[in-house]
Amino acid sequence: MTNGADFSALYQELILDHYRRPRNKGVLERADASVAMRNPLCGDEIDLYMAFEGDNIKEMKFSGSGCAISQASASMMTQLLMGKSREEAGRMYARFRQMVMGDEQAGSDASLNDVLALSSVARFPARVKCALLAWNALEKGLSKPESD
Ligand code: ZN
Repeated sequence: MTNGADFSALYQELILDHYRRPRNKGVLERADASVAMRNPLCGDEIDLYMAFEGDNIKEMKFSGSGCAISQASASMMTQLLMGKSREEAGRMYARFRQMVMGDEQAGSDASLNDVLALSSVARFPARVKCALLAWNALEKGLSKPESD
């Protein structure tokens, strides 16, 4: 499309905004699940903390450091998934994976919201791992048993 360039400038801006002012960054003291993920290829680190209430993600925070893509992805993910059910979060994880693997339909799925800004990552295979890091932590966290 003719406005493709505008779109990517907008997306770039959104990624930098989440990188510079990360949402939900910090440590969750009473987490039901905490998952550490590392991406040695880029040096990215994400620690994800989740608290559940019944079947819902009540709270989610992350800490870590790394490239703009990895940190923005974590920020966008926590913003998108807070309050969602485990099932919904799992569905969005699958959708996100499809998107960064280059699936065009997933790349225009409005339910992904700000996260769509990361769709361009599909064109840079080395960055896909960066974008996926937080989401892989999520997937691991979701698979933990419901009660302890
Ligand atoms: Zn990275």
